[in-house]
Amino acid sequence: MKRRAFLKGSAAAVGGAAALGFDLRSARAELRELKISRTSETRSTCPYCSVSCGVIIHTLGDRAKNVTAAVVHVEGDPDHPINRGTLCPKGAALKDDINNPNRIKRPLVRKPGSDKWEEASWEEAIPRIARLIKDTRDRTFVAKNAVGQTVNRCPGLAWIGGCTDTNEFNYLQWRVITALGVPYRDSQARV
Ligand code: SF4
Repeated sequence: MKRRAFLKGSAAAVGGAAALGFDLRSARAELRELKISRTSETRSTCPYCSVSCGVIIHTLGDRAKNVTAAVVHVEGDPDHPINRGTLCPKGAALKDDINNPNRIKRPLVRKPGSDKWEEASWEEAIPRIARLIKDTRDRTFVAKNAVGQTVNRCPGLAWIGGCTDTNEFNYLQWRVITALGVPYRDSQARV
């Protein structure tokens, strides 16, 4: 059947059903709802720029063991005070960023002398990061500058915050890096 004939036939069938007294409203509502009707909602922040729009991520899957969750839709959060449900084209395409097969989901390590990155578990990565922070701070800490003023800084370290970090998380993060004396610091979205 050609496309034009199919569309004509479909329109005639819908018209015929309505003419026969069938109420098609629930069928149409079901069609509209289908995409997100069985998803769970997670509120988050768009990671792309410092506007930091609120998003709702719709995930299919009942969070049961052995079920792989799938993000099927991302939309603007109507309750968010910054964007009130709107998203720019970049934010509206966020689903493809989340589902991108090249997205890094685990810590990577490039061991001394190696020319490649290898996956590590969080159990391996967190103590290793802590060890390196401590060693680097001990090695590079500067208590006083050249004219004897107290500076208590650690120029061997730099720190960057994640793009979806909240104000509260960034406050805690700033306290930690200030305590360490890290002078080179930033937060990607300054959310
Ligand atoms: S939706 Fe657009 S404007 Fe909003 S945070 Fe994302 S990139 Fe920025």
